[in-house]
Amino acid sequence: MKPHKLNRRDFLRRSAKGTLGFGIGLSRLSRDNEVFQNYPSIKEYRKLGRTGFLVSDIGSGIPYSEAVLKAVIDSGVNFIETSESYDNGRNEILIGKTIKNLNREKLFIATKLNISLGITMSQDEIYTRAEESRKRLGSGYIDLYMMHQAQSILKVSDRNFHRACDRLRKEGKIRFVGLSCHGSFWWQEQGGSLEDILIAAIEDGRYDVLFFPYNFLDPGMGERILARCKAANIGTMIMKSNPVGILESYESVLKRGDELGFLEQKDYETKKIQMEKAGNFFRKYGMTGTEDLKRGAYRFILSNDNVSTICCRFRNFSDIDMYVGLSGSRLNEKENLLLAEFRESLGFLNCRIGCNKCEKSCPVHLPVSTIMRYYYYSQALSEQETASSLYRNIGNNESGICRKCQGHCEKACPHNVAIRFLLADAHRQLSKIT
Ligand code: SF4
Ligand code: SF4
Repeated sequence: MKPHKLNRRDFLRRSAKGTLGFGIGLSRLSRDNEVFQNYPSIKEYRKLGRTGFLVSDIGSGIPYSEAVLKAVIDSGVNFIETSESYDNGRNEILIGKTIKNLNREKLFIATKLNISLGITMSQDEIYTRAEESRKRLGSGYIDLYMMHQAQSILKVSDRNFHRACDRLRKEGKIRFVGLSCHGSFWWQEQGGSLEDILIAAIEDGRYDVLFFPYNFLDPGMGERILARCKAANIGTMIMKSNPVGILESYESVLKRGDELGFLEQKDYETKKIQMEKAGNFFRKYGMTGTEDLKRGAYRFILSNDNVSTICCRFRNFSDIDMYVGLSGSRLNEKENLLLAEFRESLGFLNCRIGCNKCEKSCPVHLPVSTIMRYYYYSQALSEQETASSLYRNIGNNESGICRKCQGHCEKACPHNVAIRFLLADAHRQLSKIT
């Protein structure tokens, strides 16, 4: 797709139409447009594996409004990702409305079937669900139909899913098949790790594209999977690219020291020293905030040529500036040092998404990695309500048991993550939102 630039007048006219249609006030619009004067465009397109489609290196994950999505597409982004479960199908409808009068062939749209958490579906049900997604998207076909959150090796080869996909493909309703994965819900032998599940998907041979977490904090697994995908000509979509957001929440928890539980208090002084180290880290690099780190986190991913696209969440017009502005760039030497030092001195603040290594040590079987993923939604992506509602479905943790526990998981963590502290804060943050 040829990158396209709107002139400012066109942009104002089109976004005003879309924004008003979505019920956001004019004052907000004019504020956003001020931010949006230097309109960036996509600079690099990459092959999405065997689909052969050239997708923008920056893709759109979960669009937030028609106006913003329209501007995102106008900036040259041609890859859009959603799911039947986002906003109960309304997110697919939003995309359908936005692309209605656009050249469909120039866009690549992926949606997902929510088949996770032990859900079993018949072939007919999967076929019907795909058709409903296609209709909501207002399109004759779905470019990529994905299994959402495959949580075990067994799920990868779900017979009904593949049979339904075969039929949909033959009828031209879907073009390619994919799988997304955050790892298993809780550590269990038959579930497998994130890497086990993704390798099973590569070896299965029927998946054209895989969608998984990869970031600079724990790059080894991601790099192995990306290399395997490249060898098998499988396209790759990256999520959970920016692990920096947790840092800000940790700082605010420490400022509220009086809210800490008894065992957390014991850790408090240690954590304070660690955070002073963080302060030194920021001073050393002359940083007043985390923006440089966030940009570095995205450039780290773009520097890996085995990545096809990063799915970024564009919440407003300013996000176009931020994410599309990164297109075509690579990590520079200063950022490389910054990320390496962040990993070294502040890596204890982030649970590695998809890692389940400590879970078998938990006497009450809490899904540590899953809870930390919801915490990430809340702290790094500001998705508090969604995170809270997912958290409430977990069970086992009604009383915030981690606050009183000796922290078996923390002792078992190979990355020395301050996990008991983070779990206690996750409980505090996620259980109070209704
Ligand atoms: S706390 Fe450590 S071992 Fe446990 S899931 Fe997180 S990174 Fe993995
Ligand atoms: S702090 Fe204790 S209860 Fe909480 S996850 Fe770790 S081991 Fe389980």
